[in-house]
Amino acid sequence: MADIIQLLPDHVANQIAAGEVVQRPASVVKELLENAIDAGADTIKLIIKDGGKALIQVVDNGKGMSHTDARLSFERHATSKIKSAEDLFSLNTKGFRGEALASIAAIAHVELHTKTEDDEVGTQLKIEGSKIVSQEIAVRPKGTSLCVKNLFFNIPARRNFLKSNQVEFRHITDEFHRVALAHPSIQFNFYNNGSEIFNLPSSNYRQRIVNIFGTKTNEKLVPAEEETQVVKISGFITKPEYSKKSRGEQFFFVNNRFIKSPYLHHAVVSAFEGLIKSENHPGYFLYLDVDPATIDINIHPTKTEIKFDDEHTLYALLRSTIKHALGQFNVVPSIDFEQDPNLDTPYAYQKKSAEQPKVVVDSGFNPFATDKDKPVSKPGNGGGSSSYNYEKSSAKGWENLYVGIESKVGKESDFSSVSFESEVITGSIFDEQREPIDSVATTFQLRRKYIVTTIKSGMIVIDQSRAHQRVLYESFLKNITVKEAVSQQLLFPLQLSFSKADVLIISEIKESLQTLGFAFDKIEDEHVEISGVPLLVPESEVGMVLDQLISDYQMDVETDSFSQSDIVSKTLSKTLAVKTGEQLDSESQLALVNNLFACKEFKVSPFNKPIYITITGDDIDKKFL
Ligand code: ADP
Ligand code: MG
Repeated sequence: MADIIQLLPDHVANQIAAGEVVQRPASVVKELLENAIDAGADTIKLIIKDGGKALIQVVDNGKGMSHTDARLSFERHATSKIKSAEDLFSLNTKGFRGEALASIAAIAHVELHTKTEDDEVGTQLKIEGSKIVSQEIAVRPKGTSLCVKNLFFNIPARRNFLKSNQVEFRHITDEFHRVALAHPSIQFNFYNNGSEIFNLPSSNYRQRIVNIFGTKTNEKLVPAEEETQVVKISGFITKPEYSKKSRGEQFFFVNNRFIKSPYLHHAVVSAFEGLIKSENHPGYFLYLDVDPATIDINIHPTKTEIKFDDEHTLYALLRSTIKHALGQFNVVPSIDFEQDPNLDTPYAYQKKSAEQPKVVVDSGFNPFATDKDKPVSKPGNGGGSSSYNYEKSSAKGWENLYVGIESKVGKESDFSSVSFESEVITGSIFDEQREPIDSVATTFQLRRKYIVTTIKSGMIVIDQSRAHQRVLYESFLKNITVKEAVSQQLLFPLQLSFSKADVLIISEIKESLQTLGFAFDKIEDEHVEISGVPLLVPESEVGMVLDQLISDYQMDVETDSFSQSDIVSKTLSKTLAVKTGEQLDSESQLALVNNLFACKEFKVSPFNKPIYITITGDDIDKKFL
């Protein structure tokens, strides 16, 4: 048989290699920014268009390249940063593989302008799919500008695989944050579709964090410092009370390189243990300086994962540093989140002695009387039921249950008029249950979590929080679609501050929010001014609701599978629904039950969790066998 093995031509090899280095526009941004930093620039501009699909340009004032280097830089394994394998152990540059430019040039239209300090004139070079199209002399200041257009122009499959411009823009912003946070002394400017998104002057670590994430961030930061022989730790953690439901701002930098490390992350989280609720995440910006010889950054082409020689020591040091920082700033709390607040003895009760419970006998009680002939007992008349005082005070927010769906509340007839969307739903309980939940006052609350009520065939146990989520979710969705939400005008407009990136997200979802009843006076820079809020949203919770919306929106947009109104409705219903632990009086329990079964899809919560379970009389009978 004839020989069949051939060496792949360079441009094919480059295209294959590009797959590893360049996953999306954000990867190009990372490589170009890192090259600018390695070139010693102190001012770097990043310019993108259409989520980086149309254009990514990085302009620096670094050392530039000679004519020959300009050309060589696009060859594979061409680098000025290491000369031998030993250099890998004393790396202080971002790059060293010499792959990035070759990979990028293989899959895009690239234009390089560059000049060194010493050269009179610079070089202009155009490359398309690894082929040099032109090389000319150019007059320009010292430094480099690298322009990448039409990414993946020759790999349609990859191009189609890219997400929407918004999502790609968000990935780029993340990458930009990471690089900018690692190098606060460098001035960065970031332009998207012609408008300036970030202007970050040369500063220190704290100011850089604040410039990126908004002025409000400053008060949240607690410094963490430690210096040992193995590692120098510096940076900030956010105070426990500012921990978020979303993962948000968590950054590790090792020798000024952003890295991902689930192991070190665990060290930080464990230091926060007991200080924040288990579903919340602490924020951190931690800079570790270690001897380059003790780490290996060569394990992943994008260099975001690294191997430490002595991970265990690092873990222990990091954990104790964070604990120390939290302690020093007096933020160690005295609250135990697991403890049931009902078990606390009020201070005033300290000296009280226990009272004997009194048994009140209802002399007029007739066990044979039916419900109908039973006289309605009035409070204070000594009648049996009156000795039980319903505690109404903590039924906070129950009025919310009515809003938007008042017409359905408490009317039995509405039940039978509910139109069911699918066979499955009409299945179990409602077939046998045409005249459904028994009339008034047949609900009760179990462990401040479930509402129990009877149906013809037995009973159902409803998760109060999920049920309310469903009710709110459908009413929000309806408001968005029919645009009839009621807005509550605020006497004084609310001024809220966010990071610039967050403000951008708010302006993206502005329309959905407006249809819900939010009224915005201003959305600019780091500030949002709100003059109206939906009826259901208490003024004091607006900030929290928006924070949650921003983070949910970010996460869901990643998957591209949800519509904006769906995300917004879900978030609001999750944030505003009654929670486990809230006591509901009988009126609101009943309203909730009725509203739930007036919903189109009453079986599962907006997050696809079951809302109730049915226990039939037969089930109960079996238990007694
Ligand atoms: P690496 O960064 O791993 O060396 P790259 O492909 O990113 O590989 O770059 C190849 C070479 O091109 C670099 O080693 C550097 O010498 C040169 N280079 C790239 N970008 C710049 C820049 N912005 N300024 C000066 N030199 C650059
Ligand atoms: Mg590089």
